[in-house]
Amino acid sequence: MSKLLEVKDLRVSFNTYNGEVQAVRGVSFDLNEGETLAIVGESGSGKSVTSSTLMGLLPKPAGVIKSGQILFQGEDLVKKSEKEMQKIRGKEISMVFQDPLSSLNPTMKIGNQIIEGLIKHQGMNRAEAKKKAIELLDQVGIPHPEIRVNQYPHQFSGGMRQRVVIAIALACNPKILIADEPTTALDVTIQAQILELMKEIQRDTKTSIIFITHDLGVVANVADRVAVMYAGKIVEIGTVDDVFYNPKHPYTWGLLGSMPTLDAEDEELYTIPGTPPDMLNPPKGDAFAPRNEFALEIDAVMEPPMFKVSDTHYAATWLLHKNAPKIEMPESVRRRIEGFAKTGKKGGE
Ligand code: ADP
Ligand code: MG
Repeated sequence: MSKLLEVKDLRVSFNTYNGEVQAVRGVSFDLNEGETLAIVGESGSGKSVTSSTLMGLLPKPAGVIKSGQILFQGEDLVKKSEKEMQKIRGKEISMVFQDPLSSLNPTMKIGNQIIEGLIKHQGMNRAEAKKKAIELLDQVGIPHPEIRVNQYPHQFSGGMRQRVVIAIALACNPKILIADEPTTALDVTIQAQILELMKEIQRDTKTSIIFITHDLGVVANVADRVAVMYAGKIVEIGTVDDVFYNPKHPYTWGLLGSMPTLDAEDEELYTIPGTPPDMLNPPKGDAFAPRNEFALEIDAVMEPPMFKVSDTHYAATWLLHKNAPKIEMPESVRRRIEGFAKTGKKGGE
């Protein structure tokens, strides 16, 4: 598999009246052709700032890329002008946001909203673009697309609107689709349908997907690899199996332990104690240490590097240092992972 995107040591801050909010603090990851990478973490961990930076949509002038590279097919997007980014956005890299209503124009027919990009980026005429719009609505599972194409956003339910947004995002056959919590605003049944649709898209179009969510539970179903983010950093990255069945970072243990599973309804759900740090004053050392029952002395002083667990698996915790005490994941977390595996949520196969 070849690398489509390489993000290297990306740092993004916001200049605010209170000071510098360090939202992204040295994020590195690769995205291969045709794969789905999930980025998971609690609210405020820097997932959306990372994705809007990839799209060149950082709010200006407050948002600043402090350093780093975003290599897309070898070209650094950080160095591109807004004009150059407009040619990439929607065509090469496109995005689906959490709230479908905010991405749609309420006063414009759905069809015209899909057609825009096709005319702009693909040089189609109106008739060709309309035909393609109908095909796209069909592809994302909207019944009667030839009627729906002439309707307005308010005539669609929440789930159907999100399908429309996905159709718009797919219109120009992007190489990368970034979906930032695409199911968070939807109810559980509709969530599952949209996730299923994302899987189909992956299968049929071979688009690479960055799937962002705070819900680790949905990840096993959709992703090939998982990056766990905390306080503006990736603290663990690996294949779905690495992260679900051999997690190494205590924060990942916490996320797995607090994941509801079908056969664990009577068990008390674990919650990670405390709250994420204030990114105006990120802590010294390991940002997770104050919430980590397994924290070592060094965590208060020095940030852990990424330790290699295997060729596919890395985690930033001092527990992986060769001199660290041997600490295994808590039994309650292990049981929950087993419950998760057993209830077949890691579904499909
Ligand atoms: P997530 O998507 O993981 O929930 P975000 O990427 O939205 O988190 O936010 C990361 C951090 O950046 C948070 O501390 C958030 O408060 C801060 N942040 C996001 N947008 C802005 C902004 N426009 N101005 C100042 N701070 C921001
Ligand atoms: Mg977000």
